[in-house]
Amino acid sequence: MAVRRALAILLLTNQAWAWNATGHRIASAIAYDLLTDKARRRVDASLAAHPDYAAWSRDTPADPLSRARAVFLAASVWPDEIRSDKRFHDDTRENAPPTPLLAGFPSMARHVNWHYIDVPISVDNAPSQPPQPPNALTELRRILKEINNQQLQVEAYDLPWLIHLEEDVYQPLHCVSRFLKSKPHGDAGGDNVYVTPGRNLHALWDAASGTDLSDSYVNRVAAEVWAEFIERNGRHAHASKDPGAWVSEGVQLAIHDVYTFGLDTGVRDQPIALTEQYQLNVHRIARTRLALAGFRLAAVLNDRFK
Ligand SMILES: [Zn+2]
Repeated sequence: MAVRRALAILLLTNQAWAWNATGHRIASAIAYDLLTDKARRRVDASLAAHPDYAAWSRDTPADPLSRARAVFLAASVWPDEIRSDKRFHDDTRENAPPTPLLAGFPSMARHVNWHYIDVPISVDNAPSQPPQPPNALTELRRILKEINNQQLQVEAYDLPWLIHLEEDVYQPLHCVSRFLKSKPHGDAGGDNVYVTPGRNLHALWDAASGTDLSDSYVNRVAAEVWAEFIERNGRHAHASKDPGAWVSEGVQLAIHDVYTFGLDTGVRDQPIALTEQYQLNVHRIARTRLALAGFRLAAVLNDRFK
């Protein structure tokens, strides 16, 4: 799947990656504001030790607290940004020459296959393939085990990945690949399902919380979805810290709320026209998922750094 998806990426422009940067920033804003003082100090110190800290802190507010929060939000999208950063190479592409190891980095790989796990959904008795490692689940489990246990440099590298991958698995299409007789290799998390509006099913879900990157938009939506979360769950909801459970939720959502348009997969010039009701449901679910992603990310960081 990794190779296949890498090929698809080469062929398509404007390929969708994950929650877009707006989605990551919203979830991260929620998480950061829920950190304990101790966890926050530790997270801030780790990110300050990352070799790309200077880029993250450029043009951020001068007061240390606002700056640290802005850095946390910037770090959450770093794993997507390195996909087009020439210092890094695509380790899933055959014969891609490795780029030189730079100071402070344990690896210069883009790790494009870490962002998702292709749990198979098979609906018309099509044979399916199990998820291949490495994937979002193997890496979340590894990082959760090794973080707080390693030297600062490793933790500094791991932390943006933990933030980003935790958030990615709350996008249900990061958890599945749907296998049909007409799609014997799976649909790569909806990348190969053509819909309108948007380019494909995956991209539609990625952008479900908007594309505005301004602090005012991100903070406003974060406050709104967090207030909705509190209204539904109260302030002392239980926070699952099990990445396997997070992924299972995503699979269930994919089955019940994503693939609700039958076995059709559309084609580029004849995409599936998604109803307004479908789009409203995408929007509604994205808001609940971003709040939950932020809530559980904070819980995990508070637990690791207590
Ligand atoms: Zn991602």
